[in-house]
Amino acid sequence: MKFNTDLSFAKKCDNADPLKSYRDRFLIPKNKDGSDVIYFAGNSLGLQPNTVRDNIEQELSDWEKFAVEGHRLAKNPWLPYHEFLTEGTAKLVGAKSEEVVNMNSLTTNLHLLFVSFYRPTKTRYKILIESNSFPSDHYAIQSQIKFHGYKVQDALIEMKPRAGEDKIRTEDIEELISLQGDSIALIWFAGVNYYSGQAFEFKKITEAGHKKNICVGFDLAHATGNLELNLHDWGVDFAVWCNYKYMNGGPGAIGGAFVHEKHLNDNSLPKFLGWWGHDKETRFLMDHKYIPIPTVESWQLSNPPIFQLAALKASLDIFDSAGMKALREKSEKMTAYMEFLLQEKVQREIEIITPTEKNERGCQLSLRVRKDGKKLYKDLISKGVICDWREPDVIRVAPVPLYNTFEDIWRSVEILNL
Ligand SMILES: *Cc1c(COP(=O)(O)O)cnc(C)c1O
Repeated sequence: MKFNTDLSFAKKCDNADPLKSYRDRFLIPKNKDGSDVIYFAGNSLGLQPNTVRDNIEQELSDWEKFAVEGHRLAKNPWLPYHEFLTEGTAKLVGAKSEEVVNMNSLTTNLHLLFVSFYRPTKTRYKILIESNSFPSDHYAIQSQIKFHGYKVQDALIEMKPRAGEDKIRTEDIEELISLQGDSIALIWFAGVNYYSGQAFEFKKITEAGHKKNICVGFDLAHATGNLELNLHDWGVDFAVWCNYKYMNGGPGAIGGAFVHEKHLNDNSLPKFLGWWGHDKETRFLMDHKYIPIPTVESWQLSNPPIFQLAALKASLDIFDSAGMKALREKSEKMTAYMEFLLQEKVQREIEIITPTEKNERGCQLSLRVRKDGKKLYKDLISKGVICDWREPDVIRVAPVPLYNTFEDIWRSVEILNL
């Protein structure tokens, strides 16, 4: 695709966009003059689908009408409510329906799944992560290592980019695994690094890990709803994600989890239990003999927050209708267009640290601005370009295919030049 720098080109792309009507399904914050902001922070908190309010009101009104009977009598009965999201979630991450569940939140799910999948032994106890991983993952992993009685400095391997580079090369990851794999118990990578925007090569990393009998998991916080995922076919052992970023599930939205089919009936896996993981038929017999649901639902502990599921359902329905393949096609084009305009038109010193290859990134571009970066970020916000700042020197922008336009991108680059 050949881009050009005229506004008319952006408008032409928007007119030809088969997904353009999806923007109308979202509530877009306004500037003081009533115009829409340019919202490039969908990687941090996605916008509100315009059906969220109705979905939640349905549950409020059923609670009013039925109270406790709503578990069975509500229009969408609360007992099986989470199941209404299963198929959409499975499609989104490329999984079988038994392999996915929405529950808790990301870091909580990380810990719950580490209970099952981080099982260090005397000779194999290390965890391999990417350097500059998200702080919550870092804290969680440090605490897991200590919990098992190991020292963080012995047990944590942080994979860094080569000197002078920002992305971590897959061949370097593969080499490290083949050299040190015998001491590694678990590989834990982000799907997309929150800082650099690098998308990792799931399949190759998983295969390299499995060759050495290492369990491989992914944090999909920045990947779900952003990339086309095929967790089942890639053989990924387990994954977790949050649903408030690209998934538009609202602030603090309920999280998601995936466990590969091959582990679902492995009763030797240690697991923390609660009543919502118990067999549905006999759950209310209230005896003390635990029978696990034969799906990833057996990792559930508590009965889930219905209002959060209702909000997330609104967004999943939109994803289901648009389809991840079409979204990704538009997203690749948008991000490449933004990269092009930044290179062609911006006079400031801005370095794009996100990889240029489309299979190595999602929507997001990370712009390193060494001089007065924070001031530039604040200027952008005050001029209605909503992006975010990550210390020490990066502005993150994420044109999201569900609700951003090519014109948003064109205008944001004009504003960047002011
Ligand atoms: C956003 C994000 C989180 C957030 O964790 P919560 O438990 O949802 O607060 C964790 N890890 C990564 C990689 C993230 O991008």
